[in-house]
Amino acid sequence: MSMLEKLDDWFVGRVSFPLTNFLLNRKEILSNYRQLVQSEWYSQEQLRDLQIEKVKSALRHANRFCPFYTARFKEIGLVPDDIRTLEDIKQIPPLSRQDVINHCADMVDVRCRPYLDAAAQSKRSPGQPIPWGRFRRQKLIKNTSSGSTGAPVIFYDDGSVTAVSWAFELRLRHWYGIEPGAREARMARISVDYMPNDLQIWTRKRLWHQLMLPGVNLADKEYAFCLQKLREFRPRVLWGFTSALAGLADYIRRTGQDASSCSPELAIGWAAPVYEHEEKALKEVFHCAVTNIYGAREVGHVAAWCPHHSWHINQEHMLVESNCNPRDGEMGEIIVTPLDTSPMPFIRYRLGDLGRPAPSRCGCGRTLQVIEDFLGRTGEIFVTKDGRMIPPNFWCRFFMVDGQSQFVERFQVIYRRPDYISIRIVKRQGYSERTEEDMKRILRKNFSPDVCFEFEYVSRIDPQISGKYQMVVNEVKTQPAGELHGCSAR
Ligand SMILES: [Zn+2]
Repeated sequence: MSMLEKLDDWFVGRVSFPLTNFLLNRKEILSNYRQLVQSEWYSQEQLRDLQIEKVKSALRHANRFCPFYTARFKEIGLVPDDIRTLEDIKQIPPLSRQDVINHCADMVDVRCRPYLDAAAQSKRSPGQPIPWGRFRRQKLIKNTSSGSTGAPVIFYDDGSVTAVSWAFELRLRHWYGIEPGAREARMARISVDYMPNDLQIWTRKRLWHQLMLPGVNLADKEYAFCLQKLREFRPRVLWGFTSALAGLADYIRRTGQDASSCSPELAIGWAAPVYEHEEKALKEVFHCAVTNIYGAREVGHVAAWCPHHSWHINQEHMLVESNCNPRDGEMGEIIVTPLDTSPMPFIRYRLGDLGRPAPSRCGCGRTLQVIEDFLGRTGEIFVTKDGRMIPPNFWCRFFMVDGQSQFVERFQVIYRRPDYISIRIVKRQGYSERTEEDMKRILRKNFSPDVCFEFEYVSRIDPQISGKYQMVVNEVKTQPAGELHGCSAR
């Protein structure tokens, strides 16, 4: 990198990126980032003290200004000032997506209420920041979560959730030796038809060093477009929907393209787990480190992989619990509480994934808690009668990492009944009866004997409208994790 490029990165990272975000009411990104790279080494006691102070203030705010929480706390007799330990907030019933859909307006800070209608009817696309938001009375932005688990959730932000997530992303990049201002390409939640206008693209590129690329509805034509843009822009970070990144890597491999001229140092997968085969493909094509952010649009970034592949929790700004005690290897659903004040607080929000927070024993030395036994979406997990849990990652390993990969072009697993699983396969040359026999042998080892497998051979498996291939389809009626394992959902 030349001196001039370094200076440019410095200017973008330290001046133009934080300054323009400040104008959009996304405050304190840099100061938060500076704080985060220190607090990740705090002792666990210090981190917990910090969390308890923030929990109290978040509950006080919600109690005072959000009618939904005022009623909820009153019902259970909770007084925020009485909270002594982090365990105490377990009295509050977890918040479901359906609660948010039913009580959206009542969850919003009453002081923002007058602006709710304007935000709700705004023609701006979801999540678009308001220019000069910092200096407007009306700061509310309507946003929706991706709805990958069913109904989309509408929620409101004023820029504060985004600001905290930006700070986390800067810290995450720092873990991989990349400082603020480094060039980044983002395969985001937009398709080619809805790309922002040229001015927006230019502004992001110039002032944020961010190249916007489409991240949904991608086919070969779009992948070719993205690759060409990457070659010209030469980003150090490639950020995107996991499905977009994996699809791009797959395209480059399939078509034998040369990606050496656009080698990023880090690929960041967002909005879905990066499975082992996807990580392998990204590393093979780009020769870069790969990380994965876990979170939800409503609450921001919850955790991310450090270079040692632990899921470190952004503990300074996020309280993560699990709704079951891990006795007898029982797994609970992940519940999160963002700790910063926002116009629409989410307190004990069920994210719909299985996992549990645990103290860090990570080789990187960071004290930040980690998520252990992170199994992903409850709806994508198959539970055998004898209680064995088969996460989606099992199938990745089974098809992509073990010997099967050479004979299988694509696969899809359909959970038809608790004792019946269909496996759809697009064969590759060399696939034989022997391959099926080998697979059945491994399956028998991992599933209880009552589960039957049906192999269905097809010529193609189509992606969903979003462009993402659904690896696991669950037709078995799913129950929340808590009920599934006989423990109270509270
Ligand atoms: Zn670590």
